[in-house]
Amino acid sequence: MSTALITHPDCLGHETPPGHPEQVARLSRILKALEGKDLARVTAPMVAEDDLLRVHPRAYVESIRAAAPETGRVQLDADTWMSPGSLAAAHRAAGGAVRAVDLVLSGVHANAFVATRPPGHHAECETPMGFCLFGTIAVAAKHALVHHGLARVAVVDFDVHHGNGTQDLLEDEPRALFVSSHQFPLWPGTGTADETGPHGTILNLPLAPGTGSEGFRRTYEEKVFPRVAAFAPDLILASTGFDAHKADPLAELRLETGDFTWVTERLCDLADEHCDGRLVSCLEGGYDLDALAESAAAHVDVLIARGAG
Ligand SMILES: [Zn+2]
Repeated sequence: MSTALITHPDCLGHETPPGHPEQVARLSRILKALEGKDLARVTAPMVAEDDLLRVHPRAYVESIRAAAPETGRVQLDADTWMSPGSLAAAHRAAGGAVRAVDLVLSGVHANAFVATRPPGHHAECETPMGFCLFGTIAVAAKHALVHHGLARVAVVDFDVHHGNGTQDLLEDEPRALFVSSHQFPLWPGTGTADETGPHGTILNLPLAPGTGSEGFRRTYEEKVFPRVAAFAPDLILASTGFDAHKADPLAELRLETGDFTWVTERLCDLADEHCDGRLVSCLEGGYDLDALAESAAAHVDVLIARGAG
């Protein structure tokens, strides 16, 4: 057993305009920070059509394919761009998350970190949004439920932004618990505590700007961990954004790198208690390159330590 690092060079080919926070260097800095670590390096495949179609209608998938430019860049909304390499990158991101689920559920690896971009947790059923094209982690959750036949999957999203896309894609699925902690108010403006979904399987935890380690940890101890434990998932998926770090330029939470170590350890504890340690982490945001690289390395160090047992 070991920890898988799942990525693909195609994910460096998704190019945003100069000055855009979701930049190629995010992934290259993370991969550099993970060099030399005891990881099983796995190539992210292209996502299978069936996997994408579990969460997005065919017309949407085709509209994203049709939008991909042959040269230059196209803008899908205020924040979301595609370059000639973006489609392959997004297909690798979703395919990598699916492969991670396969490897962890088959026991080949204890846990996995999917280091891909573009991120996915803002992509709604029929709307690209917030740097995201496809709902990567929702694709992985559905694959675990439908293809592998798991009874329950929990998705925990500690990116500083509300995982509106994941919520949109999973709220009708009673076998999926979706928990999102996020700064509020902050873009995209959703994720209030009263958004609980038609089956009560959505838990939103808005955090006031300026919330630091203590408030974050208290929220997780009091609300997140008991809820995940009560759900007794067969697999835990983490939407791993590092933009709640105090150095991040897009938000105003005040987490330290050690808080990402802490939350990763506690999620691994929950995975140990409920699902034989099975945890798949997918990269979402994080826009200060130094904090991002340091935090991702700290997160992966925990996965390695816990996966080696
Ligand atoms: Zn974010």
